[in-house]
Amino acid sequence: MTELTSTPAGELPHPVSARVAHRNEFDNGWAVISRIIRHVLRYRWRFALATITSLLASVFNVAIPRLLGRSVDAAHALTTGNSVESEETVQFLAALAGLLLAAATLRGLFQMISGYLSEFIAHAYGRDLRIAYFDKLQRMGFDFHDRIHSGDLITRGMLDLEGVRGFVENAMQRFIALVLLASIGALLLFSRDTPMALVTLSFVPLLGWRAGRMGLTLRGAWTRLQERLAILTRVMEENLEGVRVVRAFSSQRFEIAKFDTAGNDALAVANERIVTRAIGMSTINAGYYFAMVAVLWFGSQRVAAGYISIGELTEFLTFMTILQMPVRQVGMIMNSSARAISSGKRLYEILDMELPFEARKGTHDLIVTVGQLRFENVSFSYDVAAPNSLEGISFEVKRGQTLGIVGPSGGGKSTIAHLIPRFYDVSGGRITIDGHDIRDVTLESLRRAVSVVQQDVFLFDDSVASNVAYPDPDAGADDLVRAAATAQIHDYVTELAGGYRTRIGERGVGLSGGQRQRLSIARGIIEEPSIVIYDDASSAVDAATEHHLRRTLREAGHSTTTIIISHRLASLMHADEIIVLDRGHIVERGRHEELSRAGGLYSTLFLAQWGAREEVATNSDEWIHA
Ligand code: ADP
Repeated sequence: MTELTSTPAGELPHPVSARVAHRNEFDNGWAVISRIIRHVLRYRWRFALATITSLLASVFNVAIPRLLGRSVDAAHALTTGNSVESEETVQFLAALAGLLLAAATLRGLFQMISGYLSEFIAHAYGRDLRIAYFDKLQRMGFDFHDRIHSGDLITRGMLDLEGVRGFVENAMQRFIALVLLASIGALLLFSRDTPMALVTLSFVPLLGWRAGRMGLTLRGAWTRLQERLAILTRVMEENLEGVRVVRAFSSQRFEIAKFDTAGNDALAVANERIVTRAIGMSTINAGYYFAMVAVLWFGSQRVAAGYISIGELTEFLTFMTILQMPVRQVGMIMNSSARAISSGKRLYEILDMELPFEARKGTHDLIVTVGQLRFENVSFSYDVAAPNSLEGISFEVKRGQTLGIVGPSGGGKSTIAHLIPRFYDVSGGRITIDGHDIRDVTLESLRRAVSVVQQDVFLFDDSVASNVAYPDPDAGADDLVRAAATAQIHDYVTELAGGYRTRIGERGVGLSGGQRQRLSIARGIIEEPSIVIYDDASSAVDAATEHHLRRTLREAGHSTTTIIISHRLASLMHADEIIVLDRGHIVERGRHEELSRAGGLYSTLFLAQWGAREEVATNSDEWIHA
């Protein structure tokens, strides 16, 4: 599927290098169309067959006016000829009728085959594009999702993709059929009578000019329409995601107004598109009928002067009637092409995004032995233009040990959690696991070794078991129960009517915040990863349950390297080392006993959370190991 994209299949992008590969070539709509055609040519045999059958359909289509012309001439002869001649003519007319029937049948048959093949190609192409797009989204990094709204990505993946696919279905083969019909017809008409052929095709330059203008205007309108539709999807997605906030603040009216504005904008652009198309098509149709009248007037003069027969005039007129349908489709072809150009640009923009880490793509799998995680003078910035979110961070933590990270919001705690599984890459320094720079190992093996349990839990609309076993769908019932019991959620699950088979609604609706977090913890540890990072993972768990959770996690964590990020000091005060982060720097580090007495930020936090409980401050062992 990667053939559809210009970049090779790789790993996740570097925050800086993941940028839109700007394509000046796309400023010219033809570049998009030619790219679509190139992809469609992967189905070259079917495409060739569709074109051949379309050609045959055109040949039989053009034969019809000729047969009709001959019939009119023959019928005319009946009025003048003698009885013997008349009998021959009647037989000739019967033969012509048979040929007409055969031509019409064959035309229909070839048109059907050509139509079927075109639709098949369009659907196959749509499927390829969809897979390539989804595949690309799976490979993009967090920075990409930070920058592009998921509503926008959905619009591109659904509406824009349909716009590009629709071009293959509606425009490509129709355009080919029109060109073939007009060319074969023109050849035939010119072989009959050049002045009449010129009059018959006199509307073609007008058609070309109007169609070109219409295409340009429609392109602009489609681009604006797709953008408006993306905004609509974004508004709707945010509204549904944040439905509780919306209802809690009784903001439905405000939301409806927001949606209305976006909807009206989309309607205005759609209207503009319809007007452009209607004006364009009316002009083309007027030109067409004007040419028809001219053929009739000029043709009758030519018949009177004896240059052509009545049958030949009929042939010209019938040919024009046959052209009527494809000419009417010019509007659809132009509209479809214009949509494909604007949609194709938006779709290819994503498909062409550079995949990162080309320079340092992990070559070998990570095999964790001693479970030593080291940060060596790490700095990181989310954006080259922004100040560093982390600066000079160094620490080391081994298997069986726990590192606690605490500090004010925005200090950089979650950023540390994001760097270890390489959601983002460090800007300076390095991170190693058992001495291997994490950029040198494959992402897959790294992510198998490292598990991040986040505060914000995402649960799939699936059973409890599937949600917990998400990292390892083959996990046995024992693993499931062990992980759930360690995460203090097993008892709750067994009380549910369906047990582990109970279906959890979208995003875990029906579960409390604490229960969702405990399910997420179970998911994080089911595969027994070597390194587990809890990023405020139990913030919503009540204090009594958290007390048990701390104990079971500590017991289960003997062979794990653990990092606990928490606002709640009770969650991490048992850690072997605690680092205090403030504005991206480590401002204090040590064990709880030292830090709580040091009089710094940690002491302040400690006092704020535990009040002036002297006895606790002096001997906190009691609840560290509780
Ligand atoms: P903490 O977890 O300590 O609250 P974070 O690690 O989330 O802090 O954030 C550290 C800094 O990085 C903050 O200044 C925050 O604004 C910034 N930051 C966090 N996430 C992103 C992001 N996705 N894009 C840009 N800046 C970010």
